[in-house]
Formats: sequence, C-alpha cells, structure tokens
Amino acid sequence: MDATTAQHTIWPEVELIRNEFPILQQTVNGRPLVYLDNGATTQKPVSVIRTMQEYYTTYNSNVHRGVHTLSQKATAAYEAARHQLAAFIGAHHQEVVFTKGTTDAINLVAAGFRKDILQEGDEVIISAMEHHSNIVPWQLACEEKKAVLKVIPISDQGELDMDAFASMLNPRVKIVSVAWVSNTLGTVNPVREIISLAHRQGIPVMLDAAQAAAHIPIRVHELDVDFLALSGHKLFGPTGIGILYGKESWLQKLPPYQGGGDMIKHVTFEKTTYNEPPLKFEAGTPAICEAIGLGAAVAWVTEVGIHKIQAYEHQLTEYAVAQLRTVPGLRFIGEAKHRSGAISFLVGNHHPSDVGILLDQQGIAVRTGHHCTQPLCDRFGIPGTVRASLAVYNTTDDIDRLVEGVQKAVTLLG
Ligand code: PMP
Repeated sequence: MDATTAQHTIWPEVELIRNEFPILQQTVNGRPLVYLDNGATTQKPVSVIRTMQEYYTTYNSNVHRGVHTLSQKATAAYEAARHQLAAFIGAHHQEVVFTKGTTDAINLVAAGFRKDILQEGDEVIISAMEHHSNIVPWQLACEEKKAVLKVIPISDQGELDMDAFASMLNPRVKIVSVAWVSNTLGTVNPVREIISLAHRQGIPVMLDAAQAAAHIPIRVHELDVDFLALSGHKLFGPTGIGILYGKESWLQKLPPYQGGGDMIKHVTFEKTTYNEPPLKFEAGTPAICEAIGLGAAVAWVTEVGIHKIQAYEHQLTEYAVAQLRTVPGLRFIGEAKHRSGAISFLVGNHHPSDVGILLDQQGIAVRTGHHCTQPLCDRFGIPGTVRASLAVYNTTDDIDRLVEGVQKAVTLLG
C-alpha cells in the first residue's frame, strides 16, 4: 500500500481499538494526546484494567498454599495466565517463568550462567545495539568469572554484521544473548539465522523480546530458541510482571535464582530440595494480580490478532518514516531494511530533549535520551535521539501531528 494512503483505508478497526484505551481519550497540554512512547510502556485496554479490578474486588488471595475458596480461585487464575502466556509464545506452560519483567528474566539466566556454567576464558556474545539490561547482567557475570564479553558490531544502518557474528562463534562461547528488536534503532534482527548459526556449534541463544512481543508473532518452539524474555507492561499489561521462557532442559539445569517460599520441595536446616520449574524460579509471593492482568493482555492481543497488528504497524511505520523524511534537517538513527515502529531521529543540531519538551507542549509524548543504550549512542557519536515508538492504537493522524509538532519545535528552536 502507498505509504501516503489515508488512515481509514489502512485499517478502519483502529478507531474501535482506540476506544478500548481510556487513557487515550484525554487532552494533554490542551491538545488531544498523541502517545508515541510505546517502546517505554504501552497503554492498557479496559479488559486488562477490569480483570485486575475484579481480582482485587472479588478474589484477592495468596496462591499455591491455600485450601480456601478465594486462594484456589487466585491460584487457578494465576496458573491460567501462565497457560495463556505459553500459548501466546508457542511454549509449554512448564517453560514459562513469571518474572518482574525482561530485566529480571535476563538477570535470572545470567545469574545461573554465572554460578554454574561460565568459567575463566569463556565468552558471552551480545550485540552493539543491546539495552543496558542485556549488557550489565552479562558484564557482571563475565567480570566475576573472568570470562569475556564479546560484542557483535553493527553497520551505520543499524544492522548486525552477521559475517562478524559467524566468525565470533567458537567452543569458548557459552551463550549468545541479543535483542530481537532494538528499542533505539527499531532494527528487527535475523533471529532465525542467529539461532541456527549458534546452534550449529551447540551454543544456546537468549532473545530479549521486550520490543518484539507487542508487534511480532512469537513461536519459541518453532524458533528453537533456548531462552526468551519479555515485559508485560510493553505488551498492554501491567508493570512488575514479565516472563522468562526457557527450554525445559535448560530450566532443569539452571540453579535457582532466589531462595524462599514456593521454590522449594522440602527444607531442613541441613539441605533444601527445590521445586520443579517454573516454580523453582518463583520464590516468594508472586505478582498475582499483575500475572492475571498480563493473561488478559495477551488474550486481548490474540483477539485483535498479532498478524493483523504486525501488518498494520508495518504500514504505519512506512507512513511515519516517509512523512518524517520530509522535515528539513531530520536524520534517522537506524535505517535497517527490516525494521519495527521504534523510530529514532535527530533534527539539525537540536538536542533531543529540547525537541521532546516542545512536542510535549503540543500533547505529543515521545521519548528522548539514550534509551538505556549508551554504548549504541557512543557507536553513533550522539547524545541520544528523539524516539517515536508506535503501537497498534496509533494512527496516521498521530503521525501527522508528530510531523507538524517536530516542524513547529524546529521553528521555535530557531
Ligand atoms: N530490553 C529492551 C530492548 C527494552 O526496550 C527494555 C525496556 N526499555 C528492556 C530490555 C527492559 O525492560 P524492563 O525495564 O521492562 O525490564
């Protein structure tokens, strides 16, 4: 479809979708809100809000240990949410660990590798476009074990150098951990190729799917990925919840992350035996309401249709890139061939935060700064970017407002 096609012919259903998000129906600084900060967090549909309200209003209770009715209901809903998440990513429910989010999930895996797998001289491969949460946990593990953190370089367009990656693989590499989608560049990485190259040498792969989950269909078994992390709040769900997918064999092999209630089979002062995964990794009272809310979020996405979402966002991204390109002095940071709707740019010599503040004054929410990817910004020699990141409820009208807003900001900044 022509990138300049009007919104109503791109996807009429978007207006119905928008109606399900109460927060979008407001004005900010006197203008109808244009929310383009979905890479940071997405808004929540009424079905998620109601599900969470119903939990606290009618069956709030602790899970797994109670014999009473409310506790059984809470346990059933919590475990049903695990099944929903498993179905959403094409996994078995035993392979889905509830975590606080992507950061927590990566830390869980990195802590396990740090304790039981990494040895001096081993290597861990990440990429130059990683979020800090997929850098620092590995850095800490490597520092402690005197292992080496290796970084896949990227091109000026923001694409992984796959030849370099292939040549970095060797028997010392114990894991490859990379983003499926870059939160700063919008690059969609060739994850199938990454997994197949690594597996050829028996190396496991972890995918950071924080920026993929709300935009791209995920089938972990088909991908044959070993670990995958995502955050509920970037997937129309609440904060404080996410998941780690781990192949069953890996979850058996990894040591517990934290000790406490629920993760044990039997405790004596001499020796503790652990519960089976996934509970082995869920010490303490979990984020029950949030897990149930995340279940409702993936039910919502499934009802809309992740393939439809992907197709619509693809068109909207093309439209946004084409329209932004008309702004004099605007340059994109990240122009990968396969890209998502996280669109980073700079205008002239203006500081990203100045542009962001002036957009906010017009009711347009974008993110500015390094987006927790400082090494990536250093790679491009920039302090940060202005990032507009799309979700399924955004429209071509939102993009038109953004373009107008950037033009106005540039005029004001002189
Ligand atoms: N990885 C990527 C690519 C992200 O965009 C983010 C969030 N900005 C994270 C990891 C961390 O997610 P969370 O803060 O929800 O743990």
